[in-house]
Amino acid sequence: MSFTRRNKYFEEYLSPRSANGIGDILATKLTPDIEGIYRDDLLQHHGRKPEIPEVQAVLLSHAHADHANYISFLHKDIPIYCGETCKYILEAVEEQSQRDIESEVLNYKKRPAYKFEYRNPPIERTFHTFRTGKKINIDSIEVEPIHNDHSVPGSYSFIIHTSQGPIVYTGDLRMHGKHAHMTDDFIKAAEEVKPIAMITEGTRIETGKTNESEEKVYQTSKKELKDAKQLSIVDFNFKDVDRFTTFYQIAKDLGKKLVINFKHACYLERYHKDKKLKTSDSRDENILLLKPKRLTGTYIDEDYQDWYIKKRLNYPNILTAEEIAKKPDKYIVVLNFWYFNQLVDLKPYRGKYIHSLSEPFNEEMEISYDRMVNWINLYKMHFIQSHCSGHISGYDLFEMIKTIKPKIIYPIHTEHPEMFKKLNIKTYLIEEEKNYKL
Ligand SMILES: [Zn+2]
Repeated sequence: MSFTRRNKYFEEYLSPRSANGIGDILATKLTPDIEGIYRDDLLQHHGRKPEIPEVQAVLLSHAHADHANYISFLHKDIPIYCGETCKYILEAVEEQSQRDIESEVLNYKKRPAYKFEYRNPPIERTFHTFRTGKKINIDSIEVEPIHNDHSVPGSYSFIIHTSQGPIVYTGDLRMHGKHAHMTDDFIKAAEEVKPIAMITEGTRIETGKTNESEEKVYQTSKKELKDAKQLSIVDFNFKDVDRFTTFYQIAKDLGKKLVINFKHACYLERYHKDKKLKTSDSRDENILLLKPKRLTGTYIDEDYQDWYIKKRLNYPNILTAEEIAKKPDKYIVVLNFWYFNQLVDLKPYRGKYIHSLSEPFNEEMEISYDRMVNWINLYKMHFIQSHCSGHISGYDLFEMIKTIKPKIIYPIHTEHPEMFKKLNIKTYLIEEEKNYKL
């Protein structure tokens, strides 16, 4: 799924209609019209005959929306292979999201959705999960998933053994993160197989050497939050478990409580289930849950209809914005821009605001960013940018490719595929809806 393409035609209140099957998606070319991959119900709804699936499996590298979401349209008989942790994250996303045609990754409701069928259970997709080191056989092809480091746990690269030779796919990765050794494991394995081709990401190919790191985010943010006498607000992507750990640790070090919301709790409980991630539970002594103001605005149980909130209302560590405002120096609140109206109750006058996300890189993001700055100014907060990217720098990318030495490069997930030509390795600038044979 391409956010850029989606933004070309759609925005917050203008989205593809679930009521039109796959019609709006294909008409705006959000996905290519490939035979034998789409759901029967969506094709039929659009006036087409069902097609026999011609794809044996889909490999999902990680749980970011641009990689995972459009699994929603795939035929139910196409199995999905992904990491165990990746599946946990997809479950956390599902728990707190409203069903719509673009977010039916784990399961889907047959369309058209008639009232009399409303209570029918959704159709579950087949997921096969793996951990690094496991090998997967799909027809005559053997696939080796190898863990890498990215801004979401459960992220993988793949070595695909074909009759013509091995192909490597990087997925999304980086070499400056907390678990850079996992990316090193992939690079080493990829180098050893002498790949005939490499499909690679290149989101930041235009950047040179950077000295960013999660440790730097920790140090900068901690320094800023240390003497905060007023309320501190931070914003980061909760799918990034390393960033959560950074702010959890800072809160602990400074004797403050980290306040998260009920959606965050869905993620945290899944991370906690995964022993390898060593993450605290949502009821940990250093974590508090912020109760949102809904309906009557009086915080009574009947105000909460979302199941993901309702089932957690008995947690002992829930508090309200008004309670936080009484002792502002005791808390660090994780608050995403979309919930900034809660600042009215939190009253973070002259507090610190840490923006631990990437800076805006398109027009839409800039509009939201300007609005965010207005809120920060309204409360005279001190703005701090503290972030490290989930993607490999251009310098590290070139070093990685020079080590792996593929015979051919297929750049994807980049706005500058032509920059790969600097490497003097045969590079195909791929065109959409065209087949490439090895
Ligand atoms: Zn990603």
